[in-house]
Amino acid sequence: MIIKPKVRGFVCVTAHPTGCTAHIQQQIDHVKAKGPIKHGPKRVLVIGASTGYGLASRITAAFGSGAATLGIFFERPSEEGRPATPGWYNTIAFSRAAKAAGLYAGNINGDAFSNDIKQQAIAAIAKDMGGPIDLIVYSLASPRRTHPTTGVVHKSVLKPLGAPYTNKTVDTDKGIVSEVTIEPANEAEATDTVAVMGGEDWEMWIQALGDAKLLAPGATAVAYSYIGPVHTWPIYKDGTIGTAKVDLERAARAIDAKLKAHGNGRAFISVNKALVTQASSAIPVVPLYISILYKVMKAAGTHEGCIEQMQRLFATQLYNGNSLKFDREGRVRVDDWEMRPEIQNPISEIWPQVTTENLAALTDIAGYRTEFLKLFGFGLPGVDYDAEVEPHESMP
Ligand code: NAD
Repeated sequence: MIIKPKVRGFVCVTAHPTGCTAHIQQQIDHVKAKGPIKHGPKRVLVIGASTGYGLASRITAAFGSGAATLGIFFERPSEEGRPATPGWYNTIAFSRAAKAAGLYAGNINGDAFSNDIKQQAIAAIAKDMGGPIDLIVYSLASPRRTHPTTGVVHKSVLKPLGAPYTNKTVDTDKGIVSEVTIEPANEAEATDTVAVMGGEDWEMWIQALGDAKLLAPGATAVAYSYIGPVHTWPIYKDGTIGTAKVDLERAARAIDAKLKAHGNGRAFISVNKALVTQASSAIPVVPLYISILYKVMKAAGTHEGCIEQMQRLFATQLYNGNSLKFDREGRVRVDDWEMRPEIQNPISEIWPQVTTENLAALTDIAGYRTEFLKLFGFGLPGVDYDAEVEPHESMP
């Protein structure tokens, strides 16, 4: 079939297999061009491995350090005549490339919050990976979690706390800038968001791996967070998601203590840059901020995507003989370039001026859209989008 993008609000309901493969290859090429990462991980578990930051971490571990990787993700496979979600094609492309390079790439498609998937992962590590895990990347972004013990389904919300929040937002598809008011979360919504995006599940993974004796002495565990600028604080840092991230930091400290006692391992939070991913496009106000951020960072020559961020995290902080540099709260910051005053000050100047009419001139909405479509395999150079393509692909 011929597959074209079908954008519905902040999702694209189609994905292009050849385009996703080209997108993966771009990321592999970036990591290879940067050269080997010395003293890197050898056996890596990535939870949330099929898109965004988790996928970039997996590519960096495999192609920067020659790591065997096991990826956990939740994607809709393709069917006859119906494309999969992009993470399905991304994972197939990654796995083929890893295997061609002689690297183990195992995959489990299912609910990472469940006990069943944790046990499947443990069985796969014990059977196929030839030793315990030395790096666990926790990079889930999910709208819901069925609690494995209680069976309760928790739904996360992206809302402010305490008071309504009004700010500008952009409909990235239609290019319309408008004002949006988001009502505050109630207590149950706030607690539910912590249950989904907080640290309990990360701790459960570490516990399960530890119980199965599959954590290497000195193992590293990392999870990702975001802070961002004042413009988005009410909906992000000080909102429901920010509260969940505070809980993730609590979990990082608990896991760190556990891993320290096990061969001097470590756990920490890396605060990453705001980027176009499927998760971030769903947050009100944030896409407008990202459009301005891209404009300013590209002009400054400091713009990065997921793969540049993760390659920099691994190469300059985690490995290569470097040590982690922490902020006052004990977090690693690869959002450092984003948060520089020479980036944030121009954004604060542009922010109040943006309207529907000047959106294209004052922001990089074009770059936002290009990046968004790339997530689904569209707009990649060298791909013939008018050609017939087989949407049904099986996991190798
Ligand atoms: P993403 O949507 O691109 O990726 C989410 C991943 O989680 C996918 O692999 C998906 O398959 C997987 N997943 C979702 N629910 C699952 C489930 N129940 N079981 C198994 N797998 C599941 O998201 P992202 O933007 O890369 O976010 C990853 C992390 O990075 C999040 O913690 C997010 O807060 C953080 N982060 C994102 C940004 C940003 O701007 N995008 C910035 C800083 C930090």
